[in-house]
Amino acid sequence: MIILQDYNINVEVVTDNPTKKLSGILGENMNKQEIINQLMEQDILVTPEMLEQPEDELLKFLPSKVKIIKSYDKTAKKKSYNDFVGLFKLRYKKISELLRTRQELSGVTAIARIKQRREKENVSIIGMVIDKNITKNGNYIINVEDMTGEITVIITQQNKEAFDIAADMVLDEIIGISGQSSGDAIFANKIILPDVPLGRTMKHSPKEEFMILIGDPHVGSKEFLRKEFMTFISWLNGKVGNEEQKRTASKVKYIIFTGDVIEGVGIYPNQDEDLEILDIYDQYEDFSNLLKKIPENIQIVIAPGNHDAGRIAEPQPPIPKNFAKALYEMSNVTMISSPGWVNIGATETFVGFDLLIYHGYSLIYYSDNVPSIRNAGGQKATDQIMSFLLKRRHLAPTHGSNLYIPDPEEDHLIIDKIPDFFITGHIHRIAYANYRGVSMINASTWTDITEDQEKRGLEPQPARVPLINLKTREVKIMNFYRGKKINQDTK
Ligand code: FE
Ligand code: ZN
Repeated sequence: MIILQDYNINVEVVTDNPTKKLSGILGENMNKQEIINQLMEQDILVTPEMLEQPEDELLKFLPSKVKIIKSYDKTAKKKSYNDFVGLFKLRYKKISELLRTRQELSGVTAIARIKQRREKENVSIIGMVIDKNITKNGNYIINVEDMTGEITVIITQQNKEAFDIAADMVLDEIIGISGQSSGDAIFANKIILPDVPLGRTMKHSPKEEFMILIGDPHVGSKEFLRKEFMTFISWLNGKVGNEEQKRTASKVKYIIFTGDVIEGVGIYPNQDEDLEILDIYDQYEDFSNLLKKIPENIQIVIAPGNHDAGRIAEPQPPIPKNFAKALYEMSNVTMISSPGWVNIGATETFVGFDLLIYHGYSLIYYSDNVPSIRNAGGQKATDQIMSFLLKRRHLAPTHGSNLYIPDPEEDHLIIDKIPDFFITGHIHRIAYANYRGVSMINASTWTDITEDQEKRGLEPQPARVPLINLKTREVKIMNFYRGKKINQDTK
């Protein structure tokens, strides 16, 4: 293990203003007796010294908790055409339920009924986009369908707000439209996305504790930044960093891994040449051994990525036990699917935070195919990709934007409730933004920047660690990257 003396970890603060304290935050006003009761209920020995401590200090003795809200673990059956139909029907039903809560869509009409009418009238519909074209005059013509039929919707340039939404519209997304019917078409006045409701209150933990995110380590690759990763672990163990950084390290209670924990084997042709560890079991073994160096009081959540073992179609089940036995044996590790939902930080009086964790396979598609995102830098506009998905309340609205197994019983990629944190990886860049009270964070990677990536115009940001203060919701990015290039410059 390397220990760097006077190693100064670079910390950039990228947060928006930490939200000011809101009155009546759950759990914030727990008194000493309540905390002691909780400690005793959880079989934690309360010593006389502890009783003398102030509330804030006492809270620290309460254990960290991870609760799985939703993790997909069904084994895939052979998929049939009917499963796709079933899934899309179900998705239509679920998303239209979300849309119907919007005032503009309170009087939704079935498409078949609109087409029967002759006279012009104001109508609103909910439809799935099945076709989108732009006319010579620069207006959008889209076709949408519901359970009863299909209709053409015209969105003119004059209507700037609707026009901008139409410009970014992708196939298969489900939207609300209000406008004027005219024979077999509707002239849209307004396009309504399912979106995240406005005016939500951001939750704050009663305890000052931190969550950190680790994206795409790719253990087993020759490019794996082992040195940086070891420094990160040394920091967690209070061995590197300045005093404040060490103090922060002691308050880290949750680490979320967003997938691609190993490089995998046979992911692309001739991958062997890029591997430091050739065997997939050995890769997991190495990764597990790294994890065992993390203090045991830290809860670790692991979602799978497309480089991991097992099925990669989404919803992607947790990394299979037979590949990563050692991870399953660790008492502080929780294995989940991608996407997967967990709740962390709950106490008797605080509901905790809901995390939506998704490796991010579909992100690339939207970075390439949504004009406003492409113009803003594509993959570099990570936060815009993430808010695009939140607005559509779906992690992969377009068929073909991810690999998936259609489950006609449940659409696991629907964002059916609003998470406190929306966490992704896959694009090997760091991003943080707040969208309507949802903290959206894309984790970094632990593979070095390669020439191939540079040629392709990708700019990975390796070895960054988002550090989230759950009490203030402030996000800091710690930079552990030293990399090949930097090493060449230093003696
Ligand atoms: Fe990756
Ligand atoms: Zn990936």
